[in-house]
Parts: sequence; structure tokens; C-alpha cells
Amino acid sequence: MIKVRFAPSPTGYLHIGGARTALFNWMYARAQAGKFVLRIEDTDRQRSRQEFVDEILESMRWLGLVWDELYYQSARFDIYRQQAQKLLDEGKAYKDGEAVILKIPVQEIKIDDLIRGEIAFDTATIKDQVLMKSDGSPTYSFACVVDDAAMAITHVIRGEDHISNTPKQIMIYQALGLKAPKFAHLPLIMGDDGRLSKRTGAVAVTDYKKEGFLPEAIVNYLMLLGWSPGGNQEKIDLASAVKKFSIKKVNKAAAVFSMDKLKWLNGQYIKEMPAGRLTDLIIPFLKEKGYVSADFDRERLEKIVELFKVRMSTLTDFLEWADFVFVDQLTVGDEIRQQHLSRDRSKEFRILSERVSRLDTFDTASLEKTFRDLVAELGIQASELVHPVRVALTGKAIGPGLFDTMAILGKEKTVQRLREAFL
Ligand code: GLU
Repeated sequence: MIKVRFAPSPTGYLHIGGARTALFNWMYARAQAGKFVLRIEDTDRQRSRQEFVDEILESMRWLGLVWDELYYQSARFDIYRQQAQKLLDEGKAYKDGEAVILKIPVQEIKIDDLIRGEIAFDTATIKDQVLMKSDGSPTYSFACVVDDAAMAITHVIRGEDHISNTPKQIMIYQALGLKAPKFAHLPLIMGDDGRLSKRTGAVAVTDYKKEGFLPEAIVNYLMLLGWSPGGNQEKIDLASAVKKFSIKKVNKAAAVFSMDKLKWLNGQYIKEMPAGRLTDLIIPFLKEKGYVSADFDRERLEKIVELFKVRMSTLTDFLEWADFVFVDQLTVGDEIRQQHLSRDRSKEFRILSERVSRLDTFDTASLEKTFRDLVAELGIQASELVHPVRVALTGKAIGPGLFDTMAILGKEKTVQRLREAFL
């Protein structure tokens, strides 16, 4: 049976690169009806932290990458010690103080990487390898090999940055008399300006969550970093991707992380989501901002969400677009005020506010009629009043239709803002 593992070190948060590695392992396991192991490589007691472990597990769950087995290397030190002792007994390793060191025979090592094809390594440049450090902890490569073997891992799928570790690890397999698994090294992820930076994705998965990205969009985006479902398709759900996924089809060339593309994809998922579900996801953000209280009008909120859905790339975009509905006191920026409210429209605003305040049904249709009747009476173009009114009500020069906007804002705030716009 196929068995793969994702083996993060909890010395930091789960970043995009790590999440991509986890996803490709997960997809491979599901595609092959195999098993997906999550192994926390917490052998470095100094640098490993529980909060990182918690965050990694939470991010994995949030992304939907559930594991079949979970191990902590910190609980397996006895096993590493035993294996090191075995190599000492067999004369394949020697001691230097408390440290255990593997003798490296000179030979050529080749692997048939599932993505990169044949890779030959020259072990002449590889020095004898520390297996156990003098503090009694195993080195990464030793614990990794002992565990991959003990856990019956058939395929090691990891980032290309680990290629140089592969020959060392193969030597350890050989010394232990174990068969090495197959290897697949995933292409690097780069930013559009070269290295991966904070701006281009070197950010914790939890930060994306806080910024209002959807897990399904992130997963969809991650799978495109080195793989493609084919036929120019970009939006694909995880279940369909699993059906098409093949590790051999993963690219060798570095993948470029584009924040714009991720946002675009996220926007696509938002647009397709029913307003009810989207509202559920937005509510925690609104609560955090203090925009809604416990007894808010759910039905009204759903209507507001529906109105802004097409404009949103992230859930937090809603807060920026629709803030004017929730705040009591609107502040209109100087620049936008200068642009749209510099001409005195107090007379038109006063009449409009009086008329809309008398409306029994404060809905889009009656608001539009009131507005159109007024501009006809005043003999002005609708557009002359639309922009100033929008700015006075929302503080923004663009947004959904003006009459929809007035309707969701409600009579009280609409009338008040029209009255106060030129005070
Ligand atoms: N703990 C290693 C890392 O986080 C795992 C590398 C591997 O997959 O072998 O980079």
C-alpha cells in the first residue's frame, strides 16, 4: 500500500510552501487509496514550540488535509537510540564523545526521482554523518530515515530544497540494511520578483485565514503551484483534482506564487457561494470589528452580503466595502469630499432627504422613483446627483447601485447623512 508523510518541524508556522508539500502528499495518498501520515519533527527541543504544533494541526484541519496517522518524533528517542546502537555494534558507526557518527563509504548514488528523473550524487563530497548528537538527540536525517522505514513510507514527497539530503539519507538506509522509498522533489516556489517574500506568500496559513481567504481557494491555488489539471483549467475542487492527480505530471520548473491570482481565485469561490453560507463566514469578522451585536438582523445582513458578493476577493473586503452600513458616524475622506462634494448641493440634498423620509416602503424601486422624479423636476442630470449622494452616504465613489445602497442603509441613516452632508 502507498504511504506518504508530511513531516513539518514545529519551529515556525505552516507556510505556503509547507502547505503545498502537505497537499501534494495528501492528494497522492487519496489518489492511490493510500495512507497519509503527519509526523511532527520536534527533535530540536530548543526550537520546537507547542504553539507551532497547534498551529500546524489547526491549519491542516482548516485546509481539509486530514491525516490517517500522527506521530511525534520527540516520543521516539528510544527507537533512534536503539538504531544508532545497532550501527555501532555492527561497526558501521563510531562514537565521538557522546555523538554517534556514520562512516560514509565513497560510492555513486543514483535515484530515480518521480518528478526530476535520474539524479546522480557523488558521495566523495559527503562527510561522515552525525546520527546522534552529543546531547542525545537524533539529527534530522537519521530520525527521518528511521521513521520513514518504521512507518513503512513508500514515497517521500518533499520540497526540492531537500535534494541534497537525499544521498545522505540513502546512505543511512543502506547502513541500516533497509530499502529506500521512492523520492519526488517538488519544484521551488518563487515570488514574481525572485525569492518568496512576505508579500508573495511566505506567510502563515493562519494569516490567510485572518485576511479572509477560503480554505478551498487556498487548496485550489496551492495545487497549481507545480501541477495543472490540464486544459487551462484553474478552478477545480479537491475531489476532482484527486481524480486527475499524478505525481509524474508535476513540473520540474519553479512555480511562481502570485497573490493576485490567489485573490482572483478566492473571489471566484466567494461569487459561487450561497449568500447564507457567505454570511456565516463573514459574521465572525463583523463581530471582531464590533460591527454587529448579538441581536443583529440576519435577514438584512444576508441582503447586504448578497449586494457586495460580486465585488469581494476576500471576506475582509466586505468590511471595507460595506463599513458604511455598520458605522454610526461616517467619515468621508478629504480627497473624495473635495472631488464629489465641493459643489454645494444642500438644496437638492434637503429635498431628497425630505421626500425619502416620507416613503412608506423604503425599497429600491420607490427610492429610484423618488430620485428620478426629483432630478426631472430640478431639470438636472441624474448623474449630477448620483455621485455626491453616493459619497455622502457611503464615503466611496464606487459601489453597488445607488438605490440598492440606500435601501440597505435604511431610512434613518440615509436621511441623516443627506441632511448632514453639507453642514
Ligand atoms: N522536518 C523537515 C522539514 O520540515 C522534513 C523534511 C522531509 O520531508 O524529509 O523540512
